Amino acid sequence: MLKELAVISGKGGTGKSSITAAFATMVNQNVVLADCDVDAANLHIIMEPEIELSEVYIAGEKAVIDYDKCSSCGVCQGYCRFNAISFFEGRYIIDEISCDGCKLCEKVCPSHAISMEKSDKSRMHSGTFRNGKMVYGRLEPGEENSGKLVAMVRSKCREIAKKEGIDTILIDSPPGIGCAVISSISGATNVLVVTEPSLSAMSDLDRTLQLLENYNIKKGVVINKYDLSQSVADKIINLCESKGIEIVGMIPFDREVVDAMVNRKSIVEWNPASIVSKEIISIWNKII
Ligand code: SF4
Ligand code: SF4
Repeated sequence: MLKELAVISGKGGTGKSSITAAFATMVNQNVVLADCDVDAANLHIIMEPEIELSEVYIAGEKAVIDYDKCSSCGVCQGYCRFNAISFFEGRYIIDEISCDGCKLCEKVCPSHAISMEKSDKSRMHSGTFRNGKMVYGRLEPGEENSGKLVAMVRSKCREIAKKEGIDTILIDSPPGIGCAVISSISGATNVLVVTEPSLSAMSDLDRTLQLLENYNIKKGVVINKYDLSQSVADKIINLCESKGIEIVGMIPFDREVVDAMVNRKSIVEWNPASIVSKEIISIWNKII
């Protein structure tokens, strides 16, 4: 049976990607690895996959002015609720980053000078890394529908897993609890929530666990760098106990995790004998 483990975090910077990288590079591991943090994909920097296919992702539409038809009447600017249209050097221009693609300007332009063009700069890449296959999406700045791109990445992972006979998909989710995260966990069989001992992380963890109440998925929480504040770590343990969520691991702070990343390795590759590496392997065995 295909297992799909989503590693999520309500807050950025908790170490979610470092832990995912370690899972992906354990000895004898063979996974399809998905980097679903499409706004800031970075796992490929460590995994260095050999890209075999790059596919265009149509993120939406942007308004474009045909200056052969434009009479510079300014009507479009008055209707744009996203302040994407401005007057610059004698003509009206549309800022493609600000344009939401709502099409209102196209409808109100008396000269029919505005049309919608597809946003086609974002990409989904797939290829081979040292412990299996990898898929990741990269959304260009200002492009939208990150949840749709995440769904596309996950669909590609399933296709590859089936073709290659791989039974585990490992998903590095974006931080937060937005639609891209929901897209990351929908259909997953297991979810690991990574947090750290700070009050802001604990607040985000609470919101994340509320989100997960809607899903019938095997789930667990790991407190990363727990020894930076034992008192907050204890509060997180109490929070999880009150919600019936298992703490599947407590990882101590270790400078070597950073050293490993700087050298494009996961901690289990850099120092397999470290306490952090052993704890991560233990977490994998519990959550999967
Ligand atoms: S409404 Fe049409 S004609 Fe008027 S400034 Fe905008 S694009 Fe040009
Ligand atoms: S499509 Fe909508 S957001 Fe984009 S420029 Fe036109 S009115 Fe503004």
